[in-house]
Amino acid sequence: RASAPASGPRLVRAPRGTTLSCRGWEQEAAMRMLMNNLDPDVAERPDDLVVYGGTGRAARSWAAFDAIVDALKSLGDDETLVVQSGKPVAVFRTHDQAPRVILANSNLVPRFATWDEFRRLEALGLTMYGQMTAGSWIYIGSQGIVQGTYETFAAVARQHFGGSLAGRLVVTAGLGGMGGAQPLAATMNGAAILAVEVDEARADKRLATRYCDRKTHDLDEALGWLGAAQRAGEALSVALIGNAATVLPELVRRGVTPDVVTDQTSAHDMLQGYVPDGMSLADAAVLRAEDPAAYVRRSTAAAARHVEAMLEMQRRGAVAFDYGNNIRTVAFDAGVARAFDIPGFVPAYVRPLFCEGKGPFRWVALSGDARDIARTDELVLELFPHDAALKRWITLARERIQFQGLPARICWLGQGDRAKFGVALNDLVARGEIGPIVIGRDHLDTGSVASPFRETEGMKDGSDAIADWAVLNALLNTASGASWVSFHHGGGVGIGNSLHAGQVIVADGTPRMRARLERVLTNDPGIGVARHADAGYESAIETARRNGITLPMTR
Ligand code: NAD
Repeated sequence: RASAPASGPRLVRAPRGTTLSCRGWEQEAAMRMLMNNLDPDVAERPDDLVVYGGTGRAARSWAAFDAIVDALKSLGDDETLVVQSGKPVAVFRTHDQAPRVILANSNLVPRFATWDEFRRLEALGLTMYGQMTAGSWIYIGSQGIVQGTYETFAAVARQHFGGSLAGRLVVTAGLGGMGGAQPLAATMNGAAILAVEVDEARADKRLATRYCDRKTHDLDEALGWLGAAQRAGEALSVALIGNAATVLPELVRRGVTPDVVTDQTSAHDMLQGYVPDGMSLADAAVLRAEDPAAYVRRSTAAAARHVEAMLEMQRRGAVAFDYGNNIRTVAFDAGVARAFDIPGFVPAYVRPLFCEGKGPFRWVALSGDARDIARTDELVLELFPHDAALKRWITLARERIQFQGLPARICWLGQGDRAKFGVALNDLVARGEIGPIVIGRDHLDTGSVASPFRETEGMKDGSDAIADWAVLNALLNTASGASWVSFHHGGGVGIGNSLHAGQVIVADGTPRMRARLERVLTNDPGIGVARHADAGYESAIETARRNGITLPMTR
């Protein structure tokens, strides 16, 4: 470029309205969603390009951000932009049914797939951590995870407490980008929930968005409020400013056994994501910078004590589960032999949904107009009138979810229904009832991830670590014509532990996108159904049969 402006942190917000600054809605959607990921109402640390999940970034540097935006603005409808770990590296002539952007983030050759090597390469400016939806530009704030967390707590309630968490105490930690959904999702299920958070600013963000009801620095005060709520059968969420490695053992010492215990600190990253106890946040930051090895020793020891307290609560009768942050592995490696007595949330609560092709389907109003989402909420209820759980979710979401950044909605839809809904959205756009919509999903989905400590833990056929399915998902979405397709390493549970793919597709009201929506939203969950059928899950085989998915070797 002739004169590149100095690149540095600045306020980013996606444009609103229906005037294009790119050459088509697919490019415009990619640009707006990249910007939306960095909107201060959405991102956890926008100045550092960090969207959520420890250090999950949207672009490698501010210069890379500017170059991506420039490339998208000039990208033709028959071209594809190639992004390598948050940096735009090439534009190629493809065709109008091909993705406009393909992205690969944080991938390393398996032998080198360690945090140490990753950080070394990151420091050289060669890679970035993409998490799941940070580097693939489809993070929608904490709402994205509220639905999944709501579904999980609802499954816990069904399996253990007769369908409701009213009068029950849930204890957890971590109120970050994902973890911040816990108080709201738990209270939506009727619970009293104590959420321990070491960083007061994070807790304040959850209070400001009404995801959490109250905060205190005082454990006695928190327990007082929660006990009263439990006795009254009222839902209440309390953020306690403190360190989980101190507070949970203290609860054990006092004989306080919650009904449910879990955790969402960023324990997948012991340097950036988990704060050791016995020191202030500021001192932790100094230690992290000056002596990373000492920091990791302290944070690991703290996480081990934290998990020991969870195990003791479980022994005393609490329903304990790991919420996908790898804290069991950290504790196990530090010598907590029974760490895996705590089950993962996927095999326990989510896999039955995956077998039906269900997963976190989300959509965003590119116009920025909240009325567009209101209309789509009605569309869901019109299309699926018999799904009571879906109806309850949409009703509660309309009441309780405050939009962050561009207005968005999420719900879990299964095989067949995703394509039906996507096409119906495109028809609404075509009729001019709403502006263009972008549809995407988390990488935590039925067919898009290999993650033996989370999504693929305890597979029926032992195929937990087989990563072919995630690669096939990305290839299939590319072949089917998604608007952008991504392949990442290390999301959720950290470097070395997962490989996963994402797809995003735009409903711009055209017949061309209608055909692509039908294909992508059929095939994307379809390979998940095939993956679970191949592993021997009966309900997946039945879902494939019902939906006409051809499985050459499964009868
Ligand atoms: P985040 O980094 O935004 O937030 C983590 C929070 O934990 C921060 O607010 C931090 O201050 C707090 N914290 C760290 N150490 C603590 C301690 N010792 N005591 C109390 N609080 C502490 O991360 P996030 O996006 O909220 O994700 C949390 C974890 O959940 C990550 O490991 C992520 O990979 C995982 N995750 C789970 C799911 C899921 O579906 N269950 C999905 C995505 C991510």
